[in-house]
Amino acid sequence: MRANSLIELDRDHLIHPVISWKGHEARGATVLQSAKGATLTDAEGHTLLDGFSGLWCVNVGYGHESIVEAAAEQMRRLPYATGYFHFSSEPAIRLAARLAELAPGDLDHVYFTLGGSDAVDSAVRFIRYYHNVTGRPAKKHMIALERGYHGSSTIGAGLTAIPAFHDGFDAPTPLQHHIPSPYPYRNPAGDTDEAVIAASVAALKAKVGELGSENVAAFFAEPVQGSGGVIVPPDGWLKAMREAARELDILFVADEVITGFGRTGPLFGVEHDGVVPDLMTVAKGLTSGYSPMGAVLMSDRIYRAIADGAPAAKPIGHGFTYSAHPVSAAVGLEVLRLYTEGGILENGRRAGARFAAGLRRLADHPLVGDVRVRGLLAGIELVTDKARRTKPAPDLGISGHLARFGYRNGLVFRAFADDIVGFAPPLCCTDAEIDLLLARFEQTLNDVLDV
Ligand code: PMP
Repeated sequence: MRANSLIELDRDHLIHPVISWKGHEARGATVLQSAKGATLTDAEGHTLLDGFSGLWCVNVGYGHESIVEAAAEQMRRLPYATGYFHFSSEPAIRLAARLAELAPGDLDHVYFTLGGSDAVDSAVRFIRYYHNVTGRPAKKHMIALERGYHGSSTIGAGLTAIPAFHDGFDAPTPLQHHIPSPYPYRNPAGDTDEAVIAASVAALKAKVGELGSENVAAFFAEPVQGSGGVIVPPDGWLKAMREAARELDILFVADEVITGFGRTGPLFGVEHDGVVPDLMTVAKGLTSGYSPMGAVLMSDRIYRAIADGAPAAKPIGHGFTYSAHPVSAAVGLEVLRLYTEGGILENGRRAGARFAAGLRRLADHPLVGDVRVRGLLAGIELVTDKARRTKPAPDLGISGHLARFGYRNGLVFRAFADDIVGFAPPLCCTDAEIDLLLARFEQTLNDVLDV
C-alpha cells in the first residue's frame, strides 16, 4: 500500500497516544516500515538512526533473529496459557526464576503484566492488599516525585506528575502526592550532591509528617527520571531515599520501566547505589519491545505477608488474561540471554561512555544548558541564556523545530515540550553509530540556532 493512502487511513481511524489529536490530523503519521540494528526505515524509504530505541525499549536493537525464532517456536508449541486455575507454562516459570536470580536482594517473586502501566497499577494494588492484610488499613496515601512518570493507567497517571497526564483527566486522586524532583540543574538550594539529597530527604520526611506515617503506604521513584526530562539524581540519592523510606515505615518502590535492563549501565538502575527496593516495576527492556510484557518484582517479605495473611479459601483477585503470556515470556528469556551472554550489556556500557563524552563536548554549544547522562540514557536541557539558565520562550517553538530538523537529519530522539532532548540509543550501537548520532544531533542544534 502506498504511504499516502496509509497516512489517510491512519488519520481517519487510528488514535495515537500522547499527542494532540487535531495536531496529528494536520501533520499526518510517519509510517515506519522496517528496522535493523539501530536504523529505522520509513514507508518512503528514508533511513533514520533511532536514538530513542523506539520508546526507550528496544535495548538489544532491531532484527535479532534468535528472538524471532524463540517467539515463533513458542507460538507453534503453546501460543497461550492462562495463569488462572493453577495453570502455568515453561517460559513464564523460567523467566520468573531468571529475574529472581538477576534482581537485587530478595526480590524473588514476580507478577507478569502486559507493560509498565499495569505493572505500576499492580504494584499499587498489591501494596494496598499488603497493608490491609497486615493490619494497617489506614496506610493508603502514596508519594511520588514531581516530573515523575509512572504510566497512564487511572492510578498510575496520578502518580505521574506531568501536566498533560493530569489535565482533563481528574488526576491525581486525593491519595496521591508529589515532592520536588532531585533536579540538580534547577534545585533552589544549589546543585551539589549534598544539597539535592538533603532537599529530597527533607521533602519526603515533611510530606510523611504532614500525612502521618500511619496513613502513608509507599514512595515511588524512578532511579533516573525519564519522561520528566531525563533527570539524573546524584550518587547516593537512591540510597538516602531508600533509608528514609525505611525510617518512615513506608514501602520503597523503584520504577525501573526505563532504567531496567542495562539502560543506565548495570542490569538495574538501583544497582548504581546498591539499593534493594521493596517492590520493583519493569517492562520495556524486559522484552526489548519485541512483544509486550512488564512485571512487578516483590520482596520475599511482602510476598510471604500477603500469602500468609490472605484468607486461605479466597482468591487474591488480581489478574489479566495475558498475565505471564508464554510468547512474551519466551521472548523475554532470549532477550535476557542476549544481555547476559550475548555481550549487549558490555557493548551498552562502552557505547554509553563514548556517547557521554561526545554529549559533554556539546556543552559549549550556545543552546545547551545542561547535559545529564547515565549509561545510554541522556537528557540535554536547552536554554537561551546559559548563565541564567533561561528556558526558551514557548513561542520560539524550539521542541517543534528540533523534531523537524532531527527527522530531516535522519535522527530520532525525544523532544520534550519544555525543550529538553531525551536520548536512549539501543545498547547494540557501534562506535560509528554513536559518532553519527552525535554529529546529526549537533547539526540539528545548529539548524535550530539558525532559525
Ligand atoms: N513507568 C515508567 C518509569 C515509564 O517510563 C513508563 C513508560 N514510559 C511506564 C511506567 C509505563 O509503561 P507502559 O507505557 O509500558 O505502560
